[in-house]
Amino acid sequence: MTTTLAQPKVGIVSLGCPKALVDSERIITRLRAEGYQIAADYKGADLVLVNTCGFLDSARAESLDAIGEAINENGKVIVTGCLGAEANVITERHPGVLAVTGPHQYEQVMTAVHTHLPAPDHPFVSLVPESGVRLTPRHYAYLKISEGCNNRCSFCIIPGLRGDLVSRRIDAVLREAEQLVKAGVKELLVISQDTSAYGLDVKYAPYKWRDKERQTRFKDLCEGLGELGVWTRLHYVYPYPHVDDVIPMMADGRILPYLDIPFQHSSPSVLKAMKRPANIDKTAERIAKWRSEVPDLVLRSSFIVGFPGETEADFEHLLGWLKEAKIERAGCFKYENVTGAPSAALPNHVPEEVKEERWHRFMAVQTEIADARAQSMIGRTIDVIIDEVDEDGAVGRSKADAPEIDGSVFIEDAAGLQAGDIVKAKVHAGEQVDLWADVVR
Ligand code: SF4
Repeated sequence: MTTTLAQPKVGIVSLGCPKALVDSERIITRLRAEGYQIAADYKGADLVLVNTCGFLDSARAESLDAIGEAINENGKVIVTGCLGAEANVITERHPGVLAVTGPHQYEQVMTAVHTHLPAPDHPFVSLVPESGVRLTPRHYAYLKISEGCNNRCSFCIIPGLRGDLVSRRIDAVLREAEQLVKAGVKELLVISQDTSAYGLDVKYAPYKWRDKERQTRFKDLCEGLGELGVWTRLHYVYPYPHVDDVIPMMADGRILPYLDIPFQHSSPSVLKAMKRPANIDKTAERIAKWRSEVPDLVLRSSFIVGFPGETEADFEHLLGWLKEAKIERAGCFKYENVTGAPSAALPNHVPEEVKEERWHRFMAVQTEIADARAQSMIGRTIDVIIDEVDEDGAVGRSKADAPEIDGSVFIEDAAGLQAGDIVKAKVHAGEQVDLWADVVR
């Protein structure tokens, strides 16, 4: 059944990682460009789009629950995103969904919307801001440089869901970044599945931007972004040798001294079972060298404990490596089977209570490292980007903190501050990843 309405309204439920959020933003931009309105809740929507995550089994369950809720509350539901790659899983549980499309299938999503909720005759194209529509606050934005991944980590189903690496042209990425900056963005967060592999699939094809030829590759991308004069934060970087190229850009302030490198483990045998792309042998040495060139460099990473076959010796190797590399920001996950991931079939799964115990030991070491850094920051004056201001003060972030995953800087006297300001503040207290500071006025 189709409906004809003057101003059709679409509700969006966006689940999953920042990469999925970027997909939602693109879909919203398209919807707005065609004259659809975005509804704030189920009741006000003529149709609901659910952008799902299909990575961990827990995320799949959450996605299926969200679809169920949207069906109960609204009734007209289109599903997209990672779990959409497995349409049968969705339609078996929720036969009432109107359509299912996979990740970044923008055209198919729009076709499904047109079928079930036709676009108005006179789209309000001018309502779309120049930079598109963003779900993140106005002062920071995610910049997606590629889709998919050429690696085949044994615990991961992303290549199956999203396919092999497909890089966006460098000129298109830099133009998007430039528009975001013109629209008021102060911080760009570069995301992909494997940022350091950028351009490999297109053989580093060159394109012109700002009258200069740039190759579709990691170094040229960082150089281009560095010209925009805003904070640029790099996520999902693997420690391949060419990462060394950005260290001088961090030293001279063009790129934030922050690298998000998902190491996952340090023990060679666990990394081998994980089929991880990078060799970790000399990584601690390279990190030490990076730190000697950029003393304020902060590393964020994620790790998995209790991977099948992980022995006590492997785990102790990880704790030792963590102390040596001094990873300041780390997320630790207890291994979980993911439907369809090869690691589920590996022998010697680690009992839950051992995973739990290792997770606590990992977090104790991590907390010590984070705490030591927080203490070392007391008395220093740092740049803080303000995220929120209310009657209790302001909450911001230092260069060491990505939004939502890292720490905060709390400022009591927020007089005159507003979200998006970048101010100097003197740190007077610190605990783990959080700091407390006063604005230098
Ligand atoms: S690098 Fe590994 S974990 Fe990351 S998306 Fe690719 S296959 Fe998955």
